[in-house]
Amino acid sequence: MIDIDKIRSEFPILDRKVGGKPLIYLDNTATSQTPRSVVDAVVSGYCHSKANVHRGVHTLSQEATELQEEARRRVRDYIGASSIEEIVFTRGTTESINLVAASFGSLFPQNGEIILTVMEHHSNIVPWQLLCTRRPDLSIKVVDIDDRGDLLLDQYRSLFNEHTCMVSLCHVSNVLGTVNPVKEIIAYAHSKGVPVLVDGAQASPHMRPDVADLDCDFYVFSSHKMYGPTGIGVLYGKKEHLLRMPPYQGGGEMIGHVSFSGTTFADLPFKFEAGTPDYIGIGAFPKALDFIEALGIDNISAHEAELTRYAEERLRAIPGMRIFGESEHKSAVISFDVDGVHPYDLGMLLDKLGIAVRTGHHCAQPLMERLGVPGTVRASFAVYNTMAEIDAFIAALNRVLPILRG
Ligand code: PMP
Repeated sequence: MIDIDKIRSEFPILDRKVGGKPLIYLDNTATSQTPRSVVDAVVSGYCHSKANVHRGVHTLSQEATELQEEARRRVRDYIGASSIEEIVFTRGTTESINLVAASFGSLFPQNGEIILTVMEHHSNIVPWQLLCTRRPDLSIKVVDIDDRGDLLLDQYRSLFNEHTCMVSLCHVSNVLGTVNPVKEIIAYAHSKGVPVLVDGAQASPHMRPDVADLDCDFYVFSSHKMYGPTGIGVLYGKKEHLLRMPPYQGGGEMIGHVSFSGTTFADLPFKFEAGTPDYIGIGAFPKALDFIEALGIDNISAHEAELTRYAEERLRAIPGMRIFGESEHKSAVISFDVDGVHPYDLGMLLDKLGIAVRTGHHCAQPLMERLGVPGTVRASFAVYNTMAEIDAFIAALNRVLPILRG
């Protein structure tokens, strides 16, 4: 089982105070905190192995290259990909989706239809809209949710026709916490010959993505939500797709040979990695995977599920409380609002008590519109959160809500 005190001692930031109070960090969906082992790996990269990757014969460059490529092998193994050629490093989930929309999207057939869901983060909406602006023949169809926050699977199936060319959806909603039945969704799309991108930004901190089992065509996620460095993302893509896809950006590293009469491109995965990457962050990312694996992802998610259950139970006892997202399959995130109270005001007052929650639309404005609210307050949990923190959070709510309600 997990030893929370020991875990907490590995996170330097958890010692700090905000507004003179011990920090209670409940904004893990936005970004998780970073254990010392990851910070040390970043520092070590800067202190000992900083040299550009894949560029030099000199020792430092070779060491930096090896750190980056070891990270790629590690990610391949972690997510069950079959080859390092299928692992592209990006700046994050957002860049990974933009890459797929721009590159894979350029291959879509005339009048193609892309299926998204109403619970998508803007990162899984806007890149497809940009594609549709460049290709006005393409269009987007949207799967709705029921009142519990589950996708309407019958409606999903009914959206398919001979024009459907892509499905792109989140594995876990960053607002509702719904864990979508992506395996079933993928199997149905494949039965119609349609590829699927899974936005794993909110799933990867809580479950191990298994791309072989899911049989997804693309799976994307961000290191910074998984206890890893910021500015690092992963794009997993099936090799058969990546081979066909044109480069996304041009520049150094992604070429075979450049001349003014024509340029050839590097092999996978480098064809999609133009320019100097954050090789130090990438090199440190395996330490975050080590952290997760040492604890066991199932132990992490069991602890988070307990926190979520307890927090929901206590929140429900507050008069005027409305929780958004009541799926049976729910992750460690609770979005709520309280009658007569603006989420922003609540977030501000909680911050004065050292409690960090997210307020607003959570980069999911279409979902807010669907829910009929301008925004929510969102509390989300990671392995280092405690029951005592939930108690302090509830006590803080009970203290500030009467003030806000006047
Ligand atoms: N998709 C989902 C579901 C997310 O929650 C987020 C981050 N909030 C993103 C995509 C974007 O991730 P990033 O900002 O790391 O690119």
